[in-house]
Amino acid sequence: MNTAAQPPVGEKVRCLACGEVFDASISVCPVCGASGEWLALYVPETNAFRRESEEIFLIVGGGIAAVSAAEAIRERNRLCSIVLFSEEAVLPYNRPMLTKAMFDSLAEEALAIHPRSWYEEHGIYLMLSKRVVSLLPEERELVTDDGAHFHYDKCILATGASCFIPPIEGTGLAGVVAIRSVTDAAAAARRAEAGQNAVVIGGGVLGLEAAWALKKAGCHVTVLENSPRLMMRNLDAAASALLQAAVEESGVAVVYSAQTDKINGTETVESVTLRDGTVLPADLVVVSCGVRANTALAQSAGIETGRAVVVDEHMETNLRGVYACGDCAEFRGVNRAVWPVAAEMGACAGANAAGEAAVYAEHPVPFTF
Ligand SMILES: Cc1cc2nc3c(=O)[nH]c(=O)nc-3n(C[C@H](O)[C@H](O)[C@H](O)COP(=O)(O)OP(=O)(O)OC[C@H]3O[C@@H](n4cnc5c(N)ncnc54)[C@H](O)[C@@H]3O)c2cc1C
Repeated sequence: MNTAAQPPVGEKVRCLACGEVFDASISVCPVCGASGEWLALYVPETNAFRRESEEIFLIVGGGIAAVSAAEAIRERNRLCSIVLFSEEAVLPYNRPMLTKAMFDSLAEEALAIHPRSWYEEHGIYLMLSKRVVSLLPEERELVTDDGAHFHYDKCILATGASCFIPPIEGTGLAGVVAIRSVTDAAAAARRAEAGQNAVVIGGGVLGLEAAWALKKAGCHVTVLENSPRLMMRNLDAAASALLQAAVEESGVAVVYSAQTDKINGTETVESVTLRDGTVLPADLVVVSCGVRANTALAQSAGIETGRAVVVDEHMETNLRGVYACGDCAEFRGVNRAVWPVAAEMGACAGANAAGEAAVYAEHPVPFTF
């Protein structure tokens, strides 16, 4: 008999490490893995702002920024139409779990931010497997990859980011992956059989997470880090040494100051050559060299971009009525590209698109990977 007290149905908790809010029946944060004292009862802020209208809100993107924006709009306007376009085929999901749960279930329902019924209950229409290819500001229209045009009154860009692939020969070979989507994670997991050699290019947080997942799956894993120590930009020397010791103890090998020269193979990857001539056998190569904001759609519509889409404190771009949020957006020259910030930017963009005058306040972002 299960005697553990169950929380009341519908009760939510907030993760104090990463800010994620989720059902209290889940004991481990689905975003960062924190548990126990890191989870506090969540009391939702009540927002009094309402503006009922029959406006059409189109949201481009299928990540947490898009979902947070959609939710914020619906909280303020029960009559409007909200359509969310995602080029991915699955429900918006907890992207951080891709490297943390690479060999657990990558099934849609296991990773989804909300079940399909949530979108139905909130009147948020999902257009999955639909890529938006242009934004026509004069016409106030979006065009999808099948040539269809959709009118908007307000538009929110939440197009996220893509993995940066350095210009190394051989990155197009089968068995070379960069993990951004559930399809990428599944492709990596499929190739990673016990006893195989995996090379991870990039010793940042996501590279190390992928390395650890591959190690647990029984692969021989080597991480190539181009700095002389791990996470030089985030950790001081002492903290970096602690991390290095933990990584080495886990059985993952790290090559420091590594310069990747070439990935070798005919159709499928076979090895990786370093500039010093070292050749590492490889059945799988994971490229983890950072991300670049997806700005092409905004740029081609004449929206101001820097490293990412430039937004003001209301998450509005220089094109009135068009907002941007999450990994695709930069505020005051900074593009954080982490989950809790994407969620907050999305909620702020949605609130403002719905007519409120919400101001985005930056909080210190805990390192929650
Ligand atoms: C493997 C991995 C692990 C991570 N771990 C952590 C972590 O532990 N902690 C943390 O804070 N952050 C983590 N992150 C970062 C975090 O996932 C992102 O900051 C967050 O997902 C950004 O959300 P977003 O909605 O802005 O963009 P995304 O999640 O990138 O979503 C954008 C969506 O829009 C779609 N899209 C793009 N362009 C178009 C278009 N033209 N038409 C239609 N659809 C389009 C994309 O396919 C995608 O589905 C991790 C990221 C990865 C990849």
